[in-house]
Amino acid sequence: MGKNKYLFVLWMLLAITLAGGIFTGIYVKSGNQDGDDGKIQVVTSFYPVYIAAKNIVEGSKGVALENLSEPQTGCMHDYQLTPQDMIMLSKADLFLVNGGGIESFLSDVGKSYPELSIRAAAEGLSLLEESGQGSGGHSHGEERPSGDAVVTEGDFYGINAHGWMDTGIYIGMVKNIADFISEADKGNQELYQENAKAYCEKIERLSAQIEELEKELKGDIINGRFTGKNIVIFHEAFAYVAEQYGLTAVYCLDLDEERQVSAGEVADLLEELTENHVSVVLAEELYGKDMGETVEQETGCNVYYLDTLVRGDYGADSYLKAMQKNIDIMREALQ
Ligand SMILES: [Zn+2]
Repeated sequence: MGKNKYLFVLWMLLAITLAGGIFTGIYVKSGNQDGDDGKIQVVTSFYPVYIAAKNIVEGSKGVALENLSEPQTGCMHDYQLTPQDMIMLSKADLFLVNGGGIESFLSDVGKSYPELSIRAAAEGLSLLEESGQGSGGHSHGEERPSGDAVVTEGDFYGINAHGWMDTGIYIGMVKNIADFISEADKGNQELYQENAKAYCEKIERLSAQIEELEKELKGDIINGRFTGKNIVIFHEAFAYVAEQYGLTAVYCLDLDEERQVSAGEVADLLEELTENHVSVVLAEELYGKDMGETVEQETGCNVYYLDTLVRGDYGADSYLKAMQKNIDIMREALQ
C-alpha cells in the first residue's frame, strides 16, 4: 500500500512536470513566432503612451505594437512586471515609456535586457514638480532609479510625471514617440511623421478649447458660484489641469490608490477649502468618490470627476474622446 502510494505521487509529479514543460514550450514558441515576422517590435509601458504610439504606427507594416500586459493598471506605481511582460520585452526592439520616474521598474528592465532601447516620451519636456501638499499620497519620485539604471537623464525625485494630462505636453510626447519610432524603422519614417502631424492637429483642437476657457476665466473671476481660481485636487495628475486652465491648485489630497484617509487629513482639507475660498474640487471617480461626497456634504464646494487618462479602451481616438469629456466637465465647473 505504502509503496503504491509513493508510486502514485511519483507519477503525478512526473505528469505535472511534463505538462508544465509542454505548456511553457507552447507559450514560448507562440511568443517567438510573433517576433519572427521581421517586424520591429515596439512595446509601450502603459495607456497614454500606447495610444500615442498606436496613432503614429497606423498603416505601417514595419512595426508590431504591443502594450504591457495589464491594460487597466492605471498609473504604473508599484507595478510588477508579469511573466508575459518579460516575454514581450525579451522580443522587443524598442520600449517606449512615459518617463519622469513613473515606471519604477525601469532599472530592472535595463539590467535584464541591456540590448533593449528604452526611450521616454517625456524626454526634454518640462514636467511639473510634485505639489508637496497634502500627505499620505503616493509619490512616483520616491522610486528614483539607483544610479546605474538605463534611464538616468534626470533625477526624478519630486517630479510630477502625469504630463499627458496637459494637451500641450502630450503633443510633445507624441512628437518624441514619432521620432523614436522613426529612428527604429527609418524605412517608414515619413508615414510616422505624417501620422504624428495629423494626430497633433486633433490634439491642438482640444488645446484651443482649453485656451478659450482660460481666457473667459480671466475676465470673470467672481460670479456667484465660482469664487476664484483656487481649486483643490484629489489627484496629482490634476495639477496639470490646473496649470493649463490657469487655476491654482492650493491643496492636493492625493487619492491615487485605495487607502484610508485619516481624520486629521480630512480636517486639514476642510480648513484649506474654507481658507482659500475654494468652490471647485477635482477628483477621480475611482478613488476620490467617497471623499468627494464628504466634501459636498460638509461644504458648499462642487466636486467634479475627471478622467486621469491612464485606462480605457484601446481605440486610437480614446485619448481624444476622454480629454474632450474632461474639457466639457471643466467648462461646467468653471461657469
Ligand atoms: Zn500617478
